[in-house]
Amino acid sequence: MSVRVVARIRPLLKQELDKDTIVTAEIPDEKSGNVAIVRIPNPKNDAESFSFQFNSVYEQDATQQQLFDSEVAPQVKQLFNGLDITIFAYGVTGTGKTHTMRGGKSLADRGVIPRLLSSIYRRCRKIEKDTAGATEVEVAMSYYEIYNDRVYDLFEPPEKRTPSGLPIRDNNGKTVVVGLTERPCTTLKEFEQLYDQANINRSTSATKLNAHSSRSHAILCVKVTQTTETTVQVSRASAIDLAGSEDNRRTDNNKERLVESASINKSLFVLAQCVEAISKKQNRIPYRESKMTRILSLGQNNGITLMILNLAPVRSYHLDTLSSLNFANRTK
Ligand code: ADP
Ligand code: MG
Repeated sequence: MSVRVVARIRPLLKQELDKDTIVTAEIPDEKSGNVAIVRIPNPKNDAESFSFQFNSVYEQDATQQQLFDSEVAPQVKQLFNGLDITIFAYGVTGTGKTHTMRGGKSLADRGVIPRLLSSIYRRCRKIEKDTAGATEVEVAMSYYEIYNDRVYDLFEPPEKRTPSGLPIRDNNGKTVVVGLTERPCTTLKEFEQLYDQANINRSTSATKLNAHSSRSHAILCVKVTQTTETTVQVSRASAIDLAGSEDNRRTDNNKERLVESASINKSLFVLAQCVEAISKKQNRIPYRESKMTRILSLGQNNGITLMILNLAPVRSYHLDTLSSLNFANRTK
């Protein structure tokens, strides 16, 4: 079981071009073997700065392809060897989580998720060809969100949602979401159609609840089943666009938002504890203490966890950026 924590600093947006960049990276060369560092000024004293270590740092000009090739592509092989992979995008709203995971429409802008699926299908075709059809590979997906600690199926049209969400239950030592749809998808095209429709469901349901989709965790699970005459191997790739980590208590204190914030804070706190426990190879991983980590069975299977910490470079995010960096620090 292993964990990588990497930072990604997004470029300045059009409306930020006149703003100062306060978050900087120090990237070691291959030979030095040093870790990558993110530096940020002390909000109380600009002359002083804090530094944070990461397994890797992606600067403003890093492309979607570079991030995928370095961090995710190597894991796809492991997925087909039977390991689970779990990828989180963590950060304040507006720092690039959705851009990182889903990305834009153009080929170059595609994020981790479409690239991951494309890579999975390529490998499926290769295995089927190499084994002359003796190994059959099936891909199926489920996609749900967790909002206020309730689980909603994103394949379900919003008007059909039960407000209390789907129940979760333990079944033979595994935690399952009862009634969650699992859709087979045999081609990238099929996947994209299902994924796009589910993302539309996500934003319409958020509008209905007078909430913002940045207040929920979106969890995509891709199940890969490889079957031969004598064996069946199942492994899972999970990709999670987390709820915004900003502290809403500072800015917006109506009751609804406070309930949202409390449940987001708790689930992110448990997530940090789990990632820390995995990276320190502790025996006890508190994954049962939040719904998200419990459903993901985080750290319970042999596998790889990747945490991408998304950061905005400008001062208007200063305090939230610092708390994101402190969060990442706790996971090591
Ligand atoms: P989040 O999901 O964390 O709220 P978004 O992914 O919506 O943030 O990003 C906020 C804005 O920044 C969007 O307009 C997005 O297109 C842009 N953006 C984020 N990361 C990048 C990047 N690496 N390159 C170009 N634009 C980016
Ligand atoms: Mg987003």
